[in-house]
Amino acid sequence: MSSTSNELLFERAQGVIPGGVSSPVRAFNAVGGTPRFITRGKGARVWDAEGRSYIDYVLSWGPLIAGHAHPAVIEAVERAARDGLSFGMPTEIEIELAEAIRTAVPSLERLRFTSSGTEATMSALRLARGFTGRSRIIKFEGCYHGHADSLLVKAGSGALTFGNPSSAGVPAEVAQHTLVLDFNDTQQLADAFAREGDHIAAVIVEPVAGNMNLVPGHPEFLAALRRLCSAHGAVLIFDEVMSGFRVHPGGAQALYGITPDLTTFGKVVGGGMPVGVFGGRRDIMACIAPQGPVYQAGTLSGNPVAMAAGLATLKLTRAVGFYERLFAATRELTDGLNAIGAQSGHALSAACVGSMFGLYFSARPPGRFSEVMAADRVRFNRFFHRMLEQGVHLAPSAFEAGFLSSAHDPADIAATLAAAKTALVD
Ligand SMILES: *Cc1c(COP(=O)(O)O)cnc(C)c1O
Repeated sequence: MSSTSNELLFERAQGVIPGGVSSPVRAFNAVGGTPRFITRGKGARVWDAEGRSYIDYVLSWGPLIAGHAHPAVIEAVERAARDGLSFGMPTEIEIELAEAIRTAVPSLERLRFTSSGTEATMSALRLARGFTGRSRIIKFEGCYHGHADSLLVKAGSGALTFGNPSSAGVPAEVAQHTLVLDFNDTQQLADAFAREGDHIAAVIVEPVAGNMNLVPGHPEFLAALRRLCSAHGAVLIFDEVMSGFRVHPGGAQALYGITPDLTTFGKVVGGGMPVGVFGGRRDIMACIAPQGPVYQAGTLSGNPVAMAAGLATLKLTRAVGFYERLFAATRELTDGLNAIGAQSGHALSAACVGSMFGLYFSARPPGRFSEVMAADRVRFNRFFHRMLEQGVHLAPSAFEAGFLSSAHDPADIAATLAAAKTALVD
């Protein structure tokens, strides 16, 4: 078959790329072992350099809602590529994708494209600060918003203190502007606003947190966010880079019926190509250059090939019954995992929101970051490797959400549940 192996490739990669990977979680540090080097994907599956195939619940960390290499997406990309890869000048397909996004999520009265989710959140924060003339922001522990400096911050000692850098290289002076609070703690949020409210430029939140495993925001917590931001003139930013077009066709904001001031998207809106989006209230978006004084730009922003992939993907999601079937399949998987967990006697539980799911080595799904951290990581790691050996690819960390695509069929779900049963024998 192949003359190479995952192991050889990993060794070679480490000789030229730090850790052998272009993004840290891919290195399998949390679970141990050798990452799989992928040669191709089709539908619900990926194949590695040794020719083995896996049912994939990572889906490039969420974007591939129609599965790998969907013919309609590939065709759109090929057609766009033949006309040229990039112009750095406006194109009609940007307008088409922007209009499609606004139709699905009307709170984005105006929106702009970036090349990643990180750029989208970074730009949204700068915009919120420029709009309000304030510096401080609130984020929540366990929520991930990309790797901009002011977002790589963890809680300081004691509640209501401003944050400390969570990465080397982030100046303390930058981190000091970020207040880190507990996700789903409405009282702490109210206290923070009572104390700091008139200095807060923005609150950024994952309404359905998917970067500390899956932890849905409590409706009353998200409602309190909306109320407090409005009362204090702070900008409410929903980071829907992951939840957008995944938990509801209109995003988490439609699911919860809460309208943020700004929203960020990424992942699904790019259909597997590098795309981010930030947008929202027209008066706030009017502050962005060239209309307003807040600078923001990108050589490849609105890239026509990437726009084509995003547009083709969103068109697929508009097929009658697309989300109903996808959500039902996700529910079937998590119901099955809960049943297997109960039968096995292990503290394994699962939950889903739309097509995102969480798998927890704890008796019930966590609602707080501290509960997420209390899950049994050793058990997760063993389960992960046993699933991988049986051809099921889960995220290589106990703290990531999983995803389904429209390409996952009942046979894939059944095979996954059978593998899970075997993986939990002892
Ligand atoms: C993935 C993600 C980001 C960062 O997006 P990149 O494209 O990786 O820069 C930001 N916010 C959330 C909620 C994400 O899941």
